[in-house]
Amino acid sequence: MSKLAICPGSFDPVTNGHLDIIERGSRIFDHVIVAVFNNQSKNPLFTVEERIYLLTEATKHLSNVTVDASEGLLIDYAREKQAQVILRGLRAVSDFEYEMQITSMNRKLDKDIETMFMMTNNQYSFLSSSIVKEVAKYRATVADLVPEVVEKALKEKYK
Ligand code: ADP
Repeated sequence: MSKLAICPGSFDPVTNGHLDIIERGSRIFDHVIVAVFNNQSKNPLFTVEERIYLLTEATKHLSNVTVDASEGLLIDYAREKQAQVILRGLRAVSDFEYEMQITSMNRKLDKDIETMFMMTNNQYSFLSSSIVKEVAKYRATVADLVPEVVEKALKEKYK
């Protein structure tokens, strides 16, 4: 049976840290769906459509990766797609508690869908969409932190 993983997140916007997880995931699973979940409480900078566009551009070299969006509950989405795995990235210890809570809830909702974590590449340990937005707002360079298409989009937003 072919293995499908869902890589969910806000991706507001996608960073090189996200991309690293997506690329590594694409080497392990037959197919990876990157799914944008709109977390309004995070007060997003980019619309869902913009985030999908940026993710699609940033992953176009990966033939087994597709980009999608969902409004509902992650576990319902994973079930609907018949995914076996939810793939998440882990940075510092600070991610752990939050991820543990979500994973436990998702397991309670569906014990057959496994959540798997990949440790961040060291160079991206302190990289987050929020820090990228903070830096870009003051027009400092984010060139090494995000794909080129995102760098341009950030310049456009903050010009
Ligand atoms: P969410 O709002 O669901 O946390 P994010 O877009 O912030 O969505 O992150 C999506 C996933 O990518 C999460 O699993 C997060 O831990 C992971 N991630 C974010 N930044 C990095 C990074 N620099 N290195 C590895 N994983 C990361």
